[in-house]
Amino acid sequence: MAGSSETDWVSRFADEVIAEAERRAPGKVIVCASGLSPSGPIHLGNLREVMTPHLVADEIRRRGYECVHIISWDDYDRFRKVPAGIDPAWAEHIGKPLTSVPAPHGSLYANWAEHFKAPMIAALADMGVEFHGISQTEQYTSGVYREQILFAMRERERIDAILDKYRTKDKGASQAPKQAPVDEAEAAAAEGSGAASEDDGTAAAGYFPYKPYCSACERDLTTVTSYDDATTELAYTCVCGFSEVVRLSEHDRGKLVWKVDWPMRWKYEGVVFEPSGVDHSSPGSSFVVGGQIVRDVFGGEQPIGPMYAFVGISGMAKMSSSKGGVPTPADALEIMEAPLLRWLYARRKPNQSFKIAFDQEIQRLYDEWDALERKVADGTALPADVAAHARATGTATGPLAATPRPVPYRTLASVVDVSAGDGEQTLRILRDLDPADPIASLDEVRPRLDRAAHWINTQVPADQRTRVRDEPDTELLESLGDAERESLRLLLDGLDEHWSLDLLTTLVYSVPKIQAGLAADAKPTPELKAAQRAFFALLYRLLVGRDTGPRLPTLLLAVGADRVRKLLGA
Ligand SMILES: [Zn+2]
Repeated sequence: MAGSSETDWVSRFADEVIAEAERRAPGKVIVCASGLSPSGPIHLGNLREVMTPHLVADEIRRRGYECVHIISWDDYDRFRKVPAGIDPAWAEHIGKPLTSVPAPHGSLYANWAEHFKAPMIAALADMGVEFHGISQTEQYTSGVYREQILFAMRERERIDAILDKYRTKDKGASQAPKQAPVDEAEAAAAEGSGAASEDDGTAAAGYFPYKPYCSACERDLTTVTSYDDATTELAYTCVCGFSEVVRLSEHDRGKLVWKVDWPMRWKYEGVVFEPSGVDHSSPGSSFVVGGQIVRDVFGGEQPIGPMYAFVGISGMAKMSSSKGGVPTPADALEIMEAPLLRWLYARRKPNQSFKIAFDQEIQRLYDEWDALERKVADGTALPADVAAHARATGTATGPLAATPRPVPYRTLASVVDVSAGDGEQTLRILRDLDPADPIASLDEVRPRLDRAAHWINTQVPADQRTRVRDEPDTELLESLGDAERESLRLLLDGLDEHWSLDLLTTLVYSVPKIQAGLAADAKPTPELKAAQRAFFALLYRLLVGRDTGPRLPTLLLAVGADRVRKLLGA
C-alpha cells in the first residue's frame, strides 16, 4: 500500500481515516459517507457534502485500500414545504415521506424524491464521483433497522437524558452569534441540510425517539401515546383523526427522529469519515449530540467529521434560474468542465468558503486553470497544486474526459459571442487562431467550446453581448483626425501578414508604438499605454459600436479580414 505524501488536505484526511479504520475495524472496507435530502432541487452549495468525502475516499482508493463512499438519500424524511414554482396544491402532501409525494407535473419519475435525485445522480456520474446510494425509504420500509429501532425505544430514557443536556445548552448557545448565510444561495444550501431543527421525539406521554407515519393519511402529524417494551405495542394518534396500535416488531412505516437516526446509521454502516455543514457542528447540533448518542447508547464511534464552510455562487443570471432560483450541479456542469468544478473543491480546505463563478469571473478562473496545467506539464507547479490538479482531472478509476485542445475559455466565449453560434464561422475563426497548427474540427475544442457557448447564451446579459456592425460608422470615420486615420492604415496594411492570434496581438500593440516613433520592443510608458487604450477604443467603436468588447485579436479574427477592412473604412 502506498503511504501518505502529505501534500494537501485530502492526503492528511486520508492518513487519518486509514489509521482510524485500522484501529476500529482492521481489514474491513473503509466507509466514508454523505447525506443528501431530495426535498427539492439539490443546490450546488450542497455539492461540498459529497465532494469532501469523495476526494478523501478517492485518495484512499488511490493508495490501494478498499473504500466505499455511501450517499444516504434522506428520502424518508418528511416533505416540509412546497418549493417556489411548484403547484401550491402540493401543500396537502406536507408531512408525508418524500417518496410518497407525487413528482411535480410533467415529471418522468415515480415520486418527488426520485425526481430530484435523478439530476444529481447524473451530475455525479459526469464528475466521476463513484458512490453507493442508499435509499432510507428502502431501509426503513424493509425493516432493515428493526433491531436498532427496538433498541432505541428500549433505551429512550437514556437518549432523552442525553438530549436534555443539550436542550439546556442550546438555550445558552443560542445567545452566541451564529455564522449567518450571506446570500440567497447559502440560505438555500443551509436549508437543504436542515433536519437539525426537527422535533426530537418529546411527547406528552413521554419521550419516544420513533415517529410513525399515519397509516390513513401517510403524514407524520402523529403523536405516540404509549409504548409497551414487552409486546412492542405502540399506540399513536394522528391529527387526521386516525389512531391505532401497531407492533413495532413488525411495523415498517415510521422512522427514528433525526438526532437518533444519524448516530444509529454511523454505527450500522461503520462510517469512519462524514463531514457536515456548519449548521450541524455548532454546540448542541445533531453532529455533537449524535457523537454522544452513538458512544453512550449504540456503543459505536463518531466518524471523523470536519466542518465544511458554505460554498456560494457569484452571478447566477436570473434568466436561467428556472428551478426556484438556485443553481444545481447540473447547471454548473453546463458552463464548466467537470475537472474545473472538481478543482474548486480540491484546492480549498473544507473550512475555507469560496464562490462558484457564473459571471465574468469564470473566464479568469479558466485562465488560472490553464496556467496550472502548463505548470504541471513543465514541472514547475508546487506539490499541493500538483495534487489538486491530479484530483481534479481524474480519480482512482482513471482520467476524466478532457478537451483535446484547451483553447482559452475567454477566446472560445468571444468566438461564440461574435459568430452567434454559427458552427461554420466558429470553425473558420478557430482555424485562424494558429495557422501553423490549425484546428481541423470543432471536436478538438469540445466539450470546452460547448460550455463556453452555454455560458455566453445563458449567463451574459444582452447588453454585454457583442454585435458586430453591419455597416461602417461613416459619421465617425469622417470625423477622424490624421493620426487616427494613420493608425487604421497601419493596422490594415499589416492585417494579412499578421492573420493569427499571436501576430494580431503584436500588431495591435505595435501600431501606437510606430506612430510614436518607438521600437517594436519598446517598454510601455504611461503615454504609450494611453495611446494604446485610445487606439483600442477607436477599433471597438468602429467594429462593435461600443468602447469595449472581446480581446481585439480574437475580435478581428472573428469579424474576418474583409469585414474588418469594410468597417475600418479601407
Ligand atoms: Zn393521519
